[in-house]
Order: sequence, then structure tokens, then C-alpha cells
Amino acid sequence: MSGAAGFIGSHLCDRLLSEGHTVTALDNLITGSRRNIDHLQGHPGFRFFECDVASPIRVDGRFDGVWHLASLASPKDYLAHPIETLEAGSTGTRNMLEIARRDGTRFLLTSTSEVYGDPLEHPQVETHWGHVNPVGIRSCYDESKRYAEALTMAYHRRCGLRTNIARIFNTYGPRMALKDGRVVPAFLDQALRGEPLTVFGDGKQTRSFCYVADLVEGLVRLAASEERYPVNLGNPAELTILEFAERIRRLMGSNLDIIFEPLPEDDPRKRRPDISKAKRVLGWEPKVSLEDGLRETVAYFKTADAAV
Ligand code: UDP
Repeated sequence: MSGAAGFIGSHLCDRLLSEGHTVTALDNLITGSRRNIDHLQGHPGFRFFECDVASPIRVDGRFDGVWHLASLASPKDYLAHPIETLEAGSTGTRNMLEIARRDGTRFLLTSTSEVYGDPLEHPQVETHWGHVNPVGIRSCYDESKRYAEALTMAYHRRCGLRTNIARIFNTYGPRMALKDGRVVPAFLDQALRGEPLTVFGDGKQTRSFCYVADLVEGLVRLAASEERYPVNLGNPAELTILEFAERIRRLMGSNLDIIFEPLPEDDPRKRRPDISKAKRVLGWEPKVSLEDGLRETVAYFKTADAAV
């Protein structure tokens, strides 16, 4: 699994190990963190290699499943490392696909709702081709994932590889990096410090937040499925960012101020997954409410682990 020390990857490691699988975990730790997998060191089914999937991967063993999660997923991170982001989605995807081809095994790509760009359809259905600025500041992420999807489909069509593509919408939960800049950790960090919540733009843009345990369940079901085309995985409960700030205020029980800051370039105005396909094909839908998920996340951010 690439990206195994990341936020979602580390939860997926836990899940696979709990089911009795062995996991070979790869991460270059550019945004992933050893502390996300510290608890797995010494587990007989787990081994970790610090390596970059965009460089030749030298890991021994034969695998019965390849999971490619490695990517810089937070806008703050991919804007700071655009070339590494493009490499993880292009060469990194190719290298991971080659391992799957060598071992004749299945391959799952974690793609993103960003392939829809600033979408022209709402909610976003998998058939929407997207509305992406190919030279905008977010293009390093969007286009690398679009290329990764195309490459995955090419390996499926050309080499008969058993592939899956998950289009992941905004996901949150424990092990997100407190300072990764995404709105959930940003607001919770601000709330825990008693600082104003920074809403970008007028706050009318929308997002839909999925708890990580729900997402991992969706990924595991997708990998077991025969679906070769992309499947949206996310929570369809849509909020404006201003409404989300209000929820944080209510949850944290404080009189936090809200301040407005400029909207980043090309920030999508609306985002909400249509999950009809995931329901139909995987029998999956999210179960964890935003309040419950945020409570778990706050508890994590209060621990010493998160503060490092
Ligand atoms: N956002 C915000 N304040 C912050 C961080 C983010 O208002 O401190 C907004 C951001 O402009 C976007 C939304 O929250 O409209 C979600 O941003 P995030 O970086 O979490 O992920 P995105 O969905 O844009 O990839």
C-alpha cells in the first residue's frame, strides 16, 4: 500500500491487519507521518518502507492486492509541492500498477472529487466529465488524478488488470495533520486555541464531509467488487462553509468569532457526491453523523499525538 502512513492509509492498514491480511506499507513521509503507524510497528503482519513511489520501488515479496493512496491531498500541501504531486499521480501510479501487473493481482486507485474541478453538475455523478482548469494552481492535483484514472483504465483495458477507482470526497477524522490547512483541522485547531475561524470567501461554497471509518468501509467494499469504472465515496450531507463554521461553534461550545479571508483561486463552489452508484454496487453509505465524527476528531486533536 502506498501512502500507508497518511491519514486514510493508516486507517486502511488497521482495517486490513484486523482482517488478518499482511500489509507492506510504503510512504515517503512528505505529508504522511510515522506516528500514524507507530502503533503497528512490531505487528507481525506489518512492515514499513520509507520510499517514494515515483522512484523505482524495490520491495520484495508477491502481493495479492495493490492499494495506491500516495498523494499530497491537502490544497496547502499540493500547492507547496506541485511537481511531487504530479509525480505521485503519474509515475507513482505507473509504478504501483506495474507491481499489480507483475503479480497478476488487483489494483485500487484512490482518486478524488477534484477530477470534477469546479463542477457543472450538482450533485456530482460519476458520469460528469468535470470542469477543470488545466493550468490553474490546483491542476497539479486534479490533472495528476485524472491522468492516474486514465492510466488505471488503460492497464485494465490493455492488460486485463482487475482495477478499481474510488473518487474520494472530503474526508476527515483522527490522524489528519492538525496543520495541513484543510478546513476541518483548520477550524478545530482554531477552536481549540480560542482563535477566530477563518472562512475563505463569503463562505457560501459547499462541501460534504465523510468520516474516515465510513470511507475505509467503502474502499474495502470497492476493492472486493467487480466495478471497473469510478465510484464516488463520500457523505452527501452538504453544508456551506459558513454553516460548517457554525456547527464547529456549536460543538466547541464557545463564542468563537468568524473572520473572512480571501477565497483561494479556483476553489470549487459546490461539492456533493451522488452516491447512488456506491449504494447500488457496494451496498455502501456513510453511517457516522458529522457531530459524532467531529467529536472523535476533536478527542484526537486534544491528544499529544496530534500536537507533535
Ligand atoms: N476553507 C476555509 N477556511 C480554512 C480552510 C479552508 O474557509 O481555513 C474553505 C476552502 O476555501 C474550501 C473549503 O473550506 O472552500 C474546503 O477546503 P479544504 O482545504 O478542506 O479542501 P478542498 O475541498 O478545497 O479540497
